Amino acid sequence: MSKIVFFCIPAHGHTNPTLGVVKELVERGHEVLYYSYEPFRSKIEGVGARFVPCDKYDAELSLDPKDAHKVGKDLALSTKLLVDTTLSLDDMVCEEMMKLKPDCIVADSMAVWGKAVALKLGIPFISSTTTFAFNQHSSKIMKQGLGDLFGMLLSMPKIGKDIKRLQDKGYPITNILDIIQNDNNTNTIVYTSPEFQPCAETFSDKYAFVGPSIRPVESSIVKEKEKLVYISMGTVNNNMISLYKNCIEALKDTDYQVIMSVGEETDISTLGQLPPNISVYPKVDQMAVLKEADVFLSHCGMNSVNESLYYSVPLVMYPQTSEQGGVATRVEQVGAGLKLQKKTASAIREAVEKVLGDSNYQLSAARIAEGFRMCSGASGAADKILKVIAQES
Ligand code: UDP
Repeated sequence: MSKIVFFCIPAHGHTNPTLGVVKELVERGHEVLYYSYEPFRSKIEGVGARFVPCDKYDAELSLDPKDAHKVGKDLALSTKLLVDTTLSLDDMVCEEMMKLKPDCIVADSMAVWGKAVALKLGIPFISSTTTFAFNQHSSKIMKQGLGDLFGMLLSMPKIGKDIKRLQDKGYPITNILDIIQNDNNTNTIVYTSPEFQPCAETFSDKYAFVGPSIRPVESSIVKEKEKLVYISMGTVNNNMISLYKNCIEALKDTDYQVIMSVGEETDISTLGQLPPNISVYPKVDQMAVLKEADVFLSHCGMNSVNESLYYSVPLVMYPQTSEQGGVATRVEQVGAGLKLQKKTASAIREAVEKVLGDSNYQLSAARIAEGFRMCSGASGAADKILKVIAQES
């Protein structure tokens, strides 16, 4: 029996894909400890891992509220938060890892403290990547070249100081790249298929493309019209009243059934009287909707895109961050969707009609779905972890 430690950041999109892997490892008789945050405790305990809270070490908690919206968008700030969190977790995590002596650490690509402690203590390490795997080839489609990004990070005097603080604490790193970048020597689990991953052929066999993890459908949606349009801007930055109003304006006089998920923060009453073909909810069972949908207007979070393609649903895409922009570009490259150029009602209607009217979009989505279904999934990810343990012990 092996002892495996997981680290993750406090985000559902990064945690969810790992849950099936944890369940698989526990069912095979291995012990899993999962370092995460209170809102995720029940999910993590539900799959049989021992949950360890990291809440009080989260650097984001000490963030000035006026900067909160920049997290995830401003790379320099995000990186500083990652370094701060690593340093604040250092004593607790190092002490516990020295006692536990895990056979391996599996850390989300953003939970850099997991990689840092593995490097420091010489523990076998596996990165877990819920977006596309990143190298100088694949980064070209993610807009911001590696050169630009790292140049900017390295030029920040504060980051230089933080590196020094990490070094003083015994971390064998010379620059921030050592912990935020994965190279071809890092064992990595990627939750997408080789067909959907940009430049998959440029990654070494240390990368396991295990496919997305898709939740089961939990309810049923009644399809009332021939075509169902689904609209959601995800769970994070979804208070987008003017976009929702434009969607209603664009689709109110059509023969489409429209389901909109607008998030808990959006006041649905501000959308006014809804036309009979449009329903708006704070949250839906996205799997149930996608199983019936014909097109998805999405912000292109990696999970939403994976789920849409899994159900062979083509996309109209309105990305809000550079990462979502990269995902949207990839969807366009494989022919499974169209980027919305403007958020006006007429542009929305035109894009929805174009995707519904050209079966090539749906066929391309179905091709990716087929690749997803051939991936090894949670069981393949568990195999990868156990193989690394067997090789490195
Ligand atoms: N989701 C859901 N119901 C909704 C809206 C979203 O279950 O009404 C789920 C969706 O299935 C996906 C996740 O929330 O798994 C959103 O993740 P994504 O990476 O797409 O975007 P984020 O919310 O992180 O921006």
